[in-house]
Amino acid sequence: MLTANQLLDALLERARSARETETVAVTAALGRVLATPQTSAITVPPLDNSAMDGYAVRVADVAAAGTRLPVSQRILAGAVGESLQPGTAARIFTGAPIPPGADAVLMQEYCYAEGDGVVINALPRRGENVRRAGEDIETGAQVLDAGTRIGAAEMGLAASVGLAELPVFRRLKVACFFTGDELVTPGTSLGPGQIYNSNRYTLTGLVNGLGCELIDLGIVPDSLEATEAALAGAASVADVVITSGGVSVGEADYVKAAVEKLGRVEMWKVAMKPGKPLVYGRVDEADFIGLPGNPVSAFVTFCLFVRPFLLKRMGVRDVLYRAFPVKADFAWTKPGVRREFLRARMQENGRAAIYPNQSSGVLTSCAWADGLVDIEIGQTVQPGDWVRFIPLAELLA
Ligand code: AMP
Ligand code: MG
Repeated sequence: MLTANQLLDALLERARSARETETVAVTAALGRVLATPQTSAITVPPLDNSAMDGYAVRVADVAAAGTRLPVSQRILAGAVGESLQPGTAARIFTGAPIPPGADAVLMQEYCYAEGDGVVINALPRRGENVRRAGEDIETGAQVLDAGTRIGAAEMGLAASVGLAELPVFRRLKVACFFTGDELVTPGTSLGPGQIYNSNRYTLTGLVNGLGCELIDLGIVPDSLEATEAALAGAASVADVVITSGGVSVGEADYVKAAVEKLGRVEMWKVAMKPGKPLVYGRVDEADFIGLPGNPVSAFVTFCLFVRPFLLKRMGVRDVLYRAFPVKADFAWTKPGVRREFLRARMQENGRAAIYPNQSSGVLTSCAWADGLVDIEIGQTVQPGDWVRFIPLAELLA
């Protein structure tokens, strides 16, 4: 029996890093993983510029509030002004370069125009409302590290230093299939004893959400031959094969046997709830991960273990999620012999509540939750106690 931490370590140890790269346009880089660090060839901003619409002055020329200065020039964003003549002000707009000689910008709200001059009703401070050249990025500075997942801000940052394309790791291919004679695809009505294949949809969201390419191989019946055939097909097209169901020690559980036959397998029991055994294996060059069939177990196990594994395989540098201390809005009085990850939700009172039914078949709990509360073995909780809260935002993206 492994602890949850040992299971995570074991999986991460087996996750090979990404190698193959390609170049994509920055506009197409959302969700991709940067393959090499990016540095800036320019200074951002390139020139000292105004943070406000107003008047650029020499601080020394404004000895007192109420000073009147002639306006000697007008500088719009995109233009470059001339050296500011002493004893004058320059009308200036946000983003426009500060003219040489000026050392402050007064907000127009503190000034009023009077003929061809301006009356300044405040005392400027040196550097006021001036955005310094290079205050964001110096020439040669690294702006993005290798292994960064590219989001909206990273796309904008790359563009701000003039990059049009980025080197990224090849998209990871993840093949999934779902074992169970009871499974039916939505769109068909249920016969006796049948249930809908919800794990297919949960995993579609999870795998796509990470930016992997999903190869969906559908439902596979509970037989060794069918499982073997599906596995061989999956391993020949994907970097990682993920299945749900068929990994308990029940009579209709063929997944482990099939992986064993086609490759090699390791099976880990993990001391946590929800969670059944997790199967890791290799079939040729593909990794194999067998998730439990119970919808909540599949969801939680994916978030806590498979996600970091896939992220590392994708070339991501920071693969671990963060947990935060929050106060409990619930009681947990029966100390458990396994670590529990409870479906929980932050309340407006700043405390975490838990879904009333924590059974591993109740998928409603996952849709309701916006996080997991992590309860250690033997831990009991009274309302107001501190508990560890893992936001789903840390686990789903
Ligand atoms: P298993 O791990 O195959 O023993 O399945 C455990 C439980 O999860 C059983 O109640 C199954 O019916 C259910 N289950 C298995 N696969 C799925 C699936 N793809 N979607 C929804 N429930 C499933
Ligand atoms: Mg089954």
